[in-house]
Amino acid sequence: MSSRINRREFVKTGAAAAAAIAAVPATVFGQAPAVVTRAARPLVVSAANGNHYKNGGPVTGVEKAFQMISQGSDVLDALVAGVNIVELDPDESSVGYGGLPNADGVVQLDSCCMHGPKKRAGGVGALEGVRTPSLVAKAVADLTDHHLIVGKGAQEFARGVGFKIEDDLNTEKSRKAWLEWKRRTDPDHYLDPAKRQQAGLLATLQMAREGLIEYEHVFGTINCDGLNARGEICGVTTTSGLAFKIPGRLGDSPILGAGLYVDNEVGAAGSTGRGEANLYGLCSFMIVENMRRGMHPKDAGMDILQRIRKNTIEKRLLDEAGNPNFDINFYVLNAKGEYAGVSFRPSTYAICTENGPQTLPTEAMLPLRPRT
Ligand code: ASP
Repeated sequence: MSSRINRREFVKTGAAAAAAIAAVPATVFGQAPAVVTRAARPLVVSAANGNHYKNGGPVTGVEKAFQMISQGSDVLDALVAGVNIVELDPDESSVGYGGLPNADGVVQLDSCCMHGPKKRAGGVGALEGVRTPSLVAKAVADLTDHHLIVGKGAQEFARGVGFKIEDDLNTEKSRKAWLEWKRRTDPDHYLDPAKRQQAGLLATLQMAREGLIEYEHVFGTINCDGLNARGEICGVTTTSGLAFKIPGRLGDSPILGAGLYVDNEVGAAGSTGRGEANLYGLCSFMIVENMRRGMHPKDAGMDILQRIRKNTIEKRLLDEAGNPNFDINFYVLNAKGEYAGVSFRPSTYAICTENGPQTLPTEAMLPLRPRT
């Protein structure tokens, strides 16, 4: 597979921007380049955990990605290096190493990535034994003709291209949480499947209320999207998925168009939250298509949240007011460097610009819901 972008692509995204690049020095926090068009202002947008976890290092994920983009790294390399910090941090139990395991106590990880200018994509689902599924997703994009490899095949692929395979990605924290969940939900192993599923969710939420696991980590993911001075756009999403899920369950995160979608001419969108609600409508793709028709990232995202709301009709998924009783967030940026974080309920998201990293409130469609 050629690693070079084609000529048309080069003319569009390379040569046209070359003059601008030459005029834009590497950007560091607090020192915005003198002349930057809005389109050429580097930017990183991510889920809030992108500006929280540091894995014992000096910077958060969005800072790392922004620094690398500003120093001229490939945008996808930079974003993946950013989310690697979150994947490797044992305290973040919704992503990578130490992510909450599936119902059998096995950590299964999902990730996908898209490279706007190269028009490449890759993903892995239900991957076991590799702490950084985003790097394996990138290897799928870089080294194969495929877009998605799952399960044992994903692990064999990872082993084959040199990743270290570990027996168990649980940390003491995630293992302890799983043991408690198991104790509460499956004392005799023979529950009616519907009752068992219901009991599983209720027990999970009860444990969150009791502070045994973080509510954010019942669901939880990082999506991270970025734009460099050449207007090149990439994105990556990585997660351990729904806590205590049925083994093999894939959510939205590894699916192109759902957990992430990038179009270099238009923008990027990615998500965290209830993956099934997103998968039903391939919502990240739809948000990018909304932007293609001229919508601002915020409006593009809010429009799709409305659609999810309309598609949510099952009673078990609705609150007393008839609104969805789950959370879903989208992180959106366009080729002009405009961005938004949108969500059902008030939440936060992260950005990093030449002014440094920030955690900002999302644009929320519904008021805060008491967690019942
Ligand atoms: N979207 C992820 C999934 O459904 C989980 C999350 O982001 O909360 O697997």
